[in-house]
Amino acid sequence: MKSKYCLFIFSLCVAFASSSRLCAQTPADGAADGSSDATSLSVDRVIDKAIEQERSLGRKMAGLRPLIETYTQNMGVHADLGAVPKSDKYFLGKLDLTRGVRQKSLMPDSKGWMGGLRQRIRQVYSVDYVPEGFAATILLGPNFEKSRYDFTYVRREFLGEVRCLVFDVQPKKGSRAVSFLGRIWVEDRDFNIVRFNGTHAPSSGGSLYFHFDSWRENMGPGLWLPAYVYTEESDLPYFMGTRKLRFKGQTRLWAYNTGKANKQNELTSLTVEADNVQDKAAEDDTITPVEAFRAWERQAEDNVLQRLEEAGLLAPDGPVNKVLETVINNLEITNNLDIQPPIRARVLLTTPIESFTVGHTVVLSRGLIDVLPDEASLGLALAHEVAHIALGHTLDTKYAFNDRTLFEDEESFFRLSLHRTEAEEAAANKAGVEYLKNSPYKDKLSNAALFLRALEARAPELTALLRPHLGNQMTSSGKVTRMADLIPQAPKLEMQRTDQIAALPLGSRVQVDLWNNTIKLMKTKNVPLLSAREKMPFELSPVFLYLTRQQQSSQVTAQTR
Ligand SMILES: [Zn+2]
Repeated sequence: MKSKYCLFIFSLCVAFASSSRLCAQTPADGAADGSSDATSLSVDRVIDKAIEQERSLGRKMAGLRPLIETYTQNMGVHADLGAVPKSDKYFLGKLDLTRGVRQKSLMPDSKGWMGGLRQRIRQVYSVDYVPEGFAATILLGPNFEKSRYDFTYVRREFLGEVRCLVFDVQPKKGSRAVSFLGRIWVEDRDFNIVRFNGTHAPSSGGSLYFHFDSWRENMGPGLWLPAYVYTEESDLPYFMGTRKLRFKGQTRLWAYNTGKANKQNELTSLTVEADNVQDKAAEDDTITPVEAFRAWERQAEDNVLQRLEEAGLLAPDGPVNKVLETVINNLEITNNLDIQPPIRARVLLTTPIESFTVGHTVVLSRGLIDVLPDEASLGLALAHEVAHIALGHTLDTKYAFNDRTLFEDEESFFRLSLHRTEAEEAAANKAGVEYLKNSPYKDKLSNAALFLRALEARAPELTALLRPHLGNQMTSSGKVTRMADLIPQAPKLEMQRTDQIAALPLGSRVQVDLWNNTIKLMKTKNVPLLSAREKMPFELSPVFLYLTRQQQSSQVTAQTR
């Protein structure tokens, strides 16, 4: 029987993505990374190399199939809070640059291949952008060449640990082609463009170009891959100026090296040891029907988890799971639960706020972990799922048959059914609330309940954020249904108070390695807020990556799907 519990593993500090990932803007000299001195190269030569690297990246990207997620929030003006979300849009797909820009959708409303990007962009942003517009926020494209642009050297600047040469880029006068207009940051070792920020020009014929800030991350010597794009508009005329559109959006890419390609690499290093490996000798060689039943269920569970991990949707096992499992352990001990086989925890890498169970594994989405303000609210999210497991709400054992998980990555959300009935939901809510009342979090339940109150306050506007991929929705008709019996314990939600933090902005906690999908919790800093505008509960915030160079080489392997 478990006997100890452990607290304060999920920091209580308020963490903001924008501040904890803020890049140091140190003046030029004293390169921390020991890179070569770029001043010995002429500006002309640097630009030649940067253009060459951009072309090479385009070719590499054609062989890669990362997941691409875009989430946007349309904003309305608010007297005290600056702007607040009015509606939102979400899209998840698998990027394919082999024949133009395509995204294979993972969304339920659009199975299979999508007919071109224009449609996607219209759906995501509700505005008809040029088809090449979106791709141009990830790559500068084949037209990015010296004959078409004027480059002006600005300064040297550090983005994190990486020293960059900064240039302003303008299409040559009289150019009619749609071109990038803005600024590029070129790292000074291999001359890759690691960030570009601006828009497209010229705007004519009713085309709209949004502004964007596009970041890349280093995945090994010389390999810089698109990671994040932040877009924001505050004065975009919407459909010929009939009204102004205000929105912010974030595109994230990850899972560059997961799935089949990864498995192939594993196979090449597989060695078979002949004599010194003994088959596991069981102390007792009988397997009772109950043990066989549990093993069968565990097999179904493992098959589903493995399939989601292969599709790049689930983070591999790692330290963040241990944090979640510690909180689960706290709930189990204080409620005298001894669940066998033991409960495990995993993280779904997508933004929509959700949680669910796969057999005895609890899964929380990255978006949910991001916005939870403290350990008690994490306890709240986990207690509901622990209750499902304790109440015997099982996974369909059809997944114990391996053919059930043989499907395309894009079909993952249609082919896996992890939904719970209303009766199961109600039972898990009831038991979950009881667990919390016995738990080490019992004195902090007003904080946890305040999170639910904040969720309810934003639920009518953030319908896309609250639409789960696999789990059950936490709200219904704009009301919180998940653990709702706790809500009366919450204090009044006071959006204007800077010392009441009910929910964090998206991107506050989980950091994803876009190459291999490993995750870690970001170091939190206690940043005093200047005003309530900086609270941004459930909102997107600008991205400032702290760029570093990886020493280890990541092998780029073309994926077959
Ligand atoms: Zn549930």
